[in-house]
Amino acid sequence: MKIVLATSNKGKVKEIKDFLKEYEIYSLNEICEPFDIAEDGTSFKENALIKARAVYNKICELNLQDEFIALSDDSGISVDALGGKPGIYSARFSELATNEANRAKLISELKALNLPSSRAYYTACIAIASKFGEFSAHGFMHGTALTEERGENGFGYDALFIPNGFDKTLGELDDKIKLEISHRSKGLELIKFVLRSIERKFN
Ligand code: IMP
Repeated sequence: MKIVLATSNKGKVKEIKDFLKEYEIYSLNEICEPFDIAEDGTSFKENALIKARAVYNKICELNLQDEFIALSDDSGISVDALGGKPGIYSARFSELATNEANRAKLISELKALNLPSSRAYYTACIAIASKFGEFSAHGFMHGTALTEERGENGFGYDALFIPNGFDKTLGELDDKIKLEISHRSKGLELIKFVLRSIERKFN
C-alpha cells in the first residue's frame, strides 16, 4: 500500500513524511499534474474529505486504486479573541494569502483589540479516501497566539504560536518537539490505526 498526499504545502508534506516514516509516501505531483481542488466545505473535516476524495478519484482515473490510497490534511489556527478566526480560512486569511501576510493580519487584528496575545489552538483533520472507504481523525494543539514573530522554524503561523507548557514559539522550538506535540501528529497518530487496518486488507 502506497500513500499519495492531497497537499502541495511543503511544511505539511515534510511533517507528514516525518511522522509516517514506515510508509511509502508520494506527493501529488509524483503521480499526476497538480490540479486545483475547490475547498468549499464548512469544516476542517469536510475540506479534508473533499481533498482526499478528489485525489482518490484521480488515483482511480489512473487505475492505481489497487496500489494507492489518498491522505489529506486540512488544518488551521483558531484565535479565541478573534471569535475563532481564521479557522478553516487560515490559508486565505489575508488578501495576499501568503504565510507572511496571514501572520501580519493576525497580529494587526489582535493589536486592534489592544491585546498582546490571545489563547488559540490549531486543528488538523486528517482524511483518507481508498477503495476500502473514507476515514478521518482530528488532532489539536492548544496554546497562545502572540503579536510578535519569534523564530524561523515551522511554517504558517508557527512564529506566533507558543504551545501550552512551553515558553518558546514553534518558530523557536526544534522541529522534533513540534512533531511530538502538534495537531497534525495527534491526527496522524489516530489515523495510523486506519492505515494498519487498510494495509491488512490490501495484502
Ligand atoms: P489548508 O491547506 O487549507 O489546510 O490550510 C492550512 C493553513 O493553516 C496553512 O496554510 C497555515 O496557514 C495554517 N496551518 C495549518 N497547520 C499549521 C501548522 O502546523 N503551523 C502553522 N500554520 C499552520
